[in-house]
Amino acid sequence: MLTVLGSTGSIGINTLQVAEHLGLPVYAITGNTKIAELAAQAVRYRVQEVVIADPAGYAQLRRLVPAHIRVEAGSQALSAVASAPAVTAVMTAIVGAAGLPATLAAVRAAKRVCIANKEPLVMAGGLIMAEARRCGAVIVPVDSEHSAMFQCLEGHHPDEVAELILTSSGGPFRTVMDLSAVTRDQALTHPTWKMGPKITIDSATLMNKSLEIIEARWLFDIEAKRIRVLVHPQSVVHSMVSYRDGSVLAQLGLPDMQVPIQYALTWPKHVPGQVAAPDFARMANLTFEDPDRVRFPSLDIGYHAADVGGVVPAVMNAANELAVAAYLAGHGCFTDIFRVVGDAVEHAPTVVDPTLADIIAADHETRARLNTDQEFRKK
Ligand code: NAD
Ligand code: MG
Repeated sequence: MLTVLGSTGSIGINTLQVAEHLGLPVYAITGNTKIAELAAQAVRYRVQEVVIADPAGYAQLRRLVPAHIRVEAGSQALSAVASAPAVTAVMTAIVGAAGLPATLAAVRAAKRVCIANKEPLVMAGGLIMAEARRCGAVIVPVDSEHSAMFQCLEGHHPDEVAELILTSSGGPFRTVMDLSAVTRDQALTHPTWKMGPKITIDSATLMNKSLEIIEARWLFDIEAKRIRVLVHPQSVVHSMVSYRDGSVLAQLGLPDMQVPIQYALTWPKHVPGQVAAPDFARMANLTFEDPDRVRFPSLDIGYHAADVGGVVPAVMNAANELAVAAYLAGHGCFTDIFRVVGDAVEHAPTVVDPTLADIIAADHETRARLNTDQEFRKK
């Protein structure tokens, strides 16, 4: 049975559709604010339990959900449905650091943990992977690039790998020279993928690639300097693995998250799905180019954070979450995101081999500092 954390979001909705297609029963779903949608999903997918992260929504959710379905609220309830004995697989589709405790709970309960929610891996990937080894959890990536690399790495030894090639669509501003003048609506219009608002902005700033470099660094235990970002505007080659003998393996597919979501649930098997394979004869071209690291300073910030390690990736992530939330709420301009995240990383403390408590403290301190920072509040 499956638990879907963040079922009302873009990945969550797609996951429920894939589960229905596969005939996979859903044990529990969770949401944060969209109460009516969550209640409708609970009925439609015949779940046993539904959790609302924000306790303020409990009473309304309880009224909308039939009496035979359990309703719980709060962060601990998220972890409980991620680790319930009846559950075999967990899809982590919460957005941001908020998903960290439930991700860890699923890992510690030795579930198949299908990870879409990349921010916890960015913050604490070393600890999460170590816990997975210790507890016997299987971690299967859902992020399309990481699903691609995971598939291209299967059956090979890490020593065979020269580098991982992480592809990026380049976002809506790939060819826009002056990023200070772009609008919010432009930033929210992704050229190839349909996603939730936070990751859509991350894709426009290329901060998403920085998060993905660190995500890959932990998932595949490889130094960031051997992860190369390559812009591929068509989003058909989802990523590649370059081997030492000059052979490169790539995974291709249409830009539809149902494909990597389904593979995470059915791994190691590819079973019939609902998305067609690309029709290559009708594809005009597949092109590749280096990213522009001057216009998109987010990439250098990400490589730096990955290199320094410690709590720096958690600080980078927290600053980015706040900057994106402020931008989405109508404050500041697009390039402020680079400035806020760059400043936070520059002033991040040095902590060698941080514990989970160190990482959570760095996350909280970054949020507290930015929330009281006059210049940030003016944004
Ligand atoms: P979304 O905004 O569409 O959905 C987020 C979900 O998380 C919702 O169900 C929401 O209720 C829940 N949520 C939000 N804040 C919460 C909180 N504080 N506590 C508990 N639950 C909360 O986001 P999305 O686009 O589906 O992305 C989800 C995750 O998957 C992100 O980490 C994103 O980076 C990653 N991801 C998304 C895509 C995609 O195509 N959308 C692709 C790759 C990776
Ligand atoms: Mg991705």
